[in-house]
Amino acid sequence: MSWRLGVVGYPIEHSISPAIHQAALDRLGIDGRYERWSVAPGALAAWAAGLRAPDLLGANVTIPHKEALLPLLDALDPSARQVGAVNTVLKQDGRLVGANTDAAGFALALGDAGYAPASGEAVMLGAGGAARAVGHALLAAGVRRLAIFNRDAARGQALASALRQQAPQRGGQGARADDRSRPLIEAFALDAPDLDARLARCELLVNTTSVGMRPGERLLRPDQVPGGALVVDIIYRPAETPLLADARARGARTQNGLPMLVYQAAIAFERWTGRKPPLDVMFAAARQALA
Ligand code: NAP
Repeated sequence: MSWRLGVVGYPIEHSISPAIHQAALDRLGIDGRYERWSVAPGALAAWAAGLRAPDLLGANVTIPHKEALLPLLDALDPSARQVGAVNTVLKQDGRLVGANTDAAGFALALGDAGYAPASGEAVMLGAGGAARAVGHALLAAGVRRLAIFNRDAARGQALASALRQQAPQRGGQGARADDRSRPLIEAFALDAPDLDARLARCELLVNTTSVGMRPGERLLRPDQVPGGALVVDIIYRPAETPLLADARARGARTQNGLPMLVYQAAIAFERWTGRKPPLDVMFAAARQALA
């Protein structure tokens, strides 16, 4: 059988997932076609029913459907339950199972950047869908203090409290709510006075907002960017956002969103096909699609 896969979103024209996955399918000689599906929010339920077609191997899900799809599926993988969003649909015994590979993809990207928590203090800009996955991965990586700064302070607080519920219970059985071994997760408005002090002492800064996709767009003044930290911007287009350019100029180590994008794709690919993903081919296809 010739398999069908694809990515659903709205809009979806700019997605480079088709290039990444088709290159991997072709390299491994898997008879499959990875498509791009433009589906408006009102049409999502009808589209989800079509996922049950026998030649449909799986799907990726992007903005604005990552949360809306949850109730339309038969079950959720632990990865999707933890993050509260689905970016991958698996078929298991005829059932549609939602999974999330963004958090694991971000964790692999952090590993590539050589990040190993020392003081364990991190600052995350943003509290949207991607921030949920990134926050989860940061805590799993061993971050001890996470400060979330978001324009909409209430949204930041809501994410902080969701992450507190999921934070690793290092104290084990009998640990108290005030257990000092648990990570400290705080949320602030983007214009809160705490921002400068947190930035000055953090070892990791991650931008999960969409600010930086357009030329000259930045949330931080260049002098606020911590020169001694690892600075990650999960935006992959452009390859170097103003934040990353400022970070590089100040001597910081930097990483853009391409590794996270490719790793989340590779994890989904392996779950659909059961085959080891050809990472070099996927990275090359992503870079070519963005060139
Ligand atoms: P989202 O759910 O819409 O969240 C957007 C975030 O950006 C929110 O925190 C929002 O703050 C903030 N924001 C937007 N405009 C702002 C502005 N003018 N000033 C301050 N804050 C602003 O989007 P998302 O799904 O999280 O995606 C965010 C970015 O991550 C996008 O650029 C996307 O391409 C990228 N991404 C990359 C990967 C990857 O694999 N590399 C994966 C997923 C997403 P408010 O809450 O205050 O509105």
